[in-house]
Amino acid sequence: MSGDVGADDSDLESTSTPVRKGVAQGAKPFQEPGELAQGAVVLIAPEPSAALLAPTNLLLDGERAVQAYLRAQLSPRSRHNALDALRRLSRLMLTNQKAQPSQIPWPAIGFEQATTIRTALYEMTRVGLITPGTANLTLSHLRGLIRTMYGMRLVTADQHELVHSGALKGVPGVRKSRGRALSATEERALRKAARALDGYQGAMLDTAIVLAIGGALRREEIAQLSVDGATLGFLRFVGKGNKAREAPIDAQMQPAIDAWLEERAELAPAHGGLFCSPHRPDRTLSPWSFWALVRAAAHHAFGTQEPCEKGCECFKVVTGPHDFRRTYATRALDQGIDIGQLRVLMGHASSATTALYDKRDEEALFEKRRNMRIIA
Ligand SMILES: [Zn+2]
Repeated sequence: MSGDVGADDSDLESTSTPVRKGVAQGAKPFQEPGELAQGAVVLIAPEPSAALLAPTNLLLDGERAVQAYLRAQLSPRSRHNALDALRRLSRLMLTNQKAQPSQIPWPAIGFEQATTIRTALYEMTRVGLITPGTANLTLSHLRGLIRTMYGMRLVTADQHELVHSGALKGVPGVRKSRGRALSATEERALRKAARALDGYQGAMLDTAIVLAIGGALRREEIAQLSVDGATLGFLRFVGKGNKAREAPIDAQMQPAIDAWLEERAELAPAHGGLFCSPHRPDRTLSPWSFWALVRAAAHHAFGTQEPCEKGCECFKVVTGPHDFRRTYATRALDQGIDIGQLRVLMGHASSATTALYDKRDEEALFEKRRNMRIIA
């Protein structure tokens, strides 16, 4: 999540020009002019500088920096996201859908190119090609790449300053609210369908859903729960960002855990994982299998007679794994927990992130307002 989302950027409103060429006066374009499509963002070699290597090395150095930046990402997922962002930037700069990061002379980046890229990304959000979240994630990866290049002494201190200047700061715009919270009726229908699954899958998935909603657990956290980590009134696990988290077990969650433990005892797996793989109880549950089981139950509960595919009705009720966390947040807020307390419970660094999980109904809010007394 980018902290830049929604930042004040009033200066952008007056300069929302279409993508421009970023060719500076007297500078040598790195690309042959003939190759450029209209509106390309061109990275050009800056004036010769002692701190920079010869322009012929810019592509090679850029590629080295890209590889170093990707290697510095700690998880496969963030590596994938970083590569995705650099590819988006490459396509934007060369106005070529097949452009790759290796074709861009990254160490030549300057103020003009940076602002042009930012404006182009902003324009893409305005016409709905990408969300502000994607634009800001892309900018944050470009800032990251510049930091890496500075660390490798491939760019000057002035170029490094772009990271802190307005040239690459996040674009304004509200991220479209995604996902939803399950109603009580939907939760019951989903769990009923879960319990109807074959063999031990039924009791196991029912318990996993109860813990996902009741503990605001992500699917990775559900998968890594251990038997020992579900005792003494708490679920204990290592959450996102390698942070140790504890979630209280309440009076609805405990019976679900007990019921599953009874069934698990008959399977007697040697591993200490709380949940088992759907077809191999001697293995632990994977995040992917957990989600596959949820989808199967969701399709039984909310889908059609047809096999489940993208666009199926069941996705309108259970849109993604985070819907369980949204359900948790929405119900907790509805019962009077404040956003600061919820932030702690959900393990967020910022309550701006927590607020995104609030799926309380606007109609209900207006009704509440009608019943309040504001006027003396
Ligand atoms: Zn379906």
